[in-house]
This record gives sequence, structure tokens and C-alpha cells, in this order.
Amino acid sequence: MNRQWKRAALLLGLALLVITVWACAKAAYTGRNQLLLISEGQETQLGLQAAQDVMKKEKESNDQIQAERVRRIGRRIAVAANKPDYKWEFHLIEKDTVNAFCLPGGKVFVYTGILELATTNDELAAIMGHEIAHALERHGGERMSMALMAQMGGQAASIALGAGSANPAVAQVFSQAYGIGTQVGFLLPHSRTQESEADEVGMILAAKAGYEPAGALTLWQKMDAYSAKKGQTPPAFLSTHPASKDRIKDIQAKMGAVRAKYFQQQLLN
Ligand SMILES: [Zn+2]
Repeated sequence: MNRQWKRAALLLGLALLVITVWACAKAAYTGRNQLLLISEGQETQLGLQAAQDVMKKEKESNDQIQAERVRRIGRRIAVAANKPDYKWEFHLIEKDTVNAFCLPGGKVFVYTGILELATTNDELAAIMGHEIAHALERHGGERMSMALMAQMGGQAASIALGAGSANPAVAQVFSQAYGIGTQVGFLLPHSRTQESEADEVGMILAAKAGYEPAGALTLWQKMDAYSAKKGQTPPAFLSTHPASKDRIKDIQAKMGAVRAKYFQQQLLN
């Protein structure tokens, strides 16, 4: 074998090894197998950097009551999430757009526009639980891994092995995964599996935090009605979070088990 072939074979072997090792990752709560080429530490580091960018770009709301409401619900969900390495912060952003997200590392952003739909604390807990679930389940890392595999093939392995977040390609797919880049042309949408998982884990977190998980049902029903309104461009959030009848059915199907296992238990505490 000439040198080039040897190198190619070595890289391929390395890529397969890395994929095998990382593919063994299991999602928290559900135990689903995940392909993760990015370490949780790398994701957190990118999340903390991105949080600073969001804070520079966006304006914190002056509505002290609503901001405190977001913080209180967030802190209770954070206790339920039991993630000691996260540096939790809960920000209410003054912007009339339906949006909320949680970056890896625990920085949570809720936009005032979504409060018009999440009017009850149970509904706000549902949306915050859902977004926090995406971070805990490392869905961004999963989407980044898929994008890196598609864009870079075997090279993705060297990133996984530590070239890390300083690599511009990694930073770029991170922005795409979270929709926070300045010149981001498209978002990497959540898969249906991830959305359904975030709904389920979000309900578990909300219920463990003492909120009625049925808040998820009324929330997504309102989202559905909102996106069905004529003459309205649906916000980016709803294109990555379709409020479909299937989703509502899926939530309904999972609700009973979550209520019985987590919420009713809470009532005794
Ligand atoms: Zn989602």
C-alpha cells in the first residue's frame, strides 16, 4: 500500500472507531441510541459563547413580574433536571416573536411574544421544559453530528477527536443547529423523533417541578391555532416546531403515564 492509501485507511478506521464509540451514547430519560461526534463539554462551551452573543443582540425585558415568573419556573425545572454542571440562567427577551430556546450549558431564553400563548404557568413550564429537554437530550449535538457527517465525512472524526469548537465548521453547524448565527441561511430542523422526545421529557420535567403536564396539551393547541391563522407568516420557531394534530395526539398518548408517574407523586410532597 502506498502512503496515501495507508493514511486513508487509517482515517477511515479512526472514523469508524469514533462513530462506534460515540454512537453508543444513550439519550437521558428515554435511552435512545444517539450518534454524537461532539463531546458534551464542547457543546457547553459553544452554548456559553452563543449565550453571550444572544445577550449582545437582544434586549432583556423590563417587565419584572414576567421576568421573575420565567426565572421561578425555570429554577424549579432546573432542580428537576438535576444537572449540576449546567450554569442555569433564565432570560426574558423583549421581542414580539414566538420563540424560546435553551442552549447547552443551561442558558434559557424566552421571548415576550411566546407569553401571549403560554399564558398559564403550566403552559410556560411546558414550553420551558420542552426547550430544556432538547438541551439535556443533546439534540443540538446530534443535529451537529449529522451535519458534520454530511458535510465533512471522515474529517468529522478528527473534529470529534478534539479539534473542537475552535474549528469554524463546528461553530457554523452549531449556529445552524440553534438558529442563532448572524448570517444563518437555514436551520437544521429537529427530527420528529427529537421533537417527540422533547415533548415527553419536557412533560416529565414540568411534572417533577410540580406543574400540571396537561399544560403541554393546551399550549400546543394554541400554537396550532396560531399557526393556522390566515395572512400570517409563521415564526421560525413554528417551522422547527410544527404544532400538528399528530403532535397533539402524541402528547395526549404520553400524558397519562407522565401524570401517573411524576405529577401525582408531586401532589403528595
Ligand atoms: Zn422542540
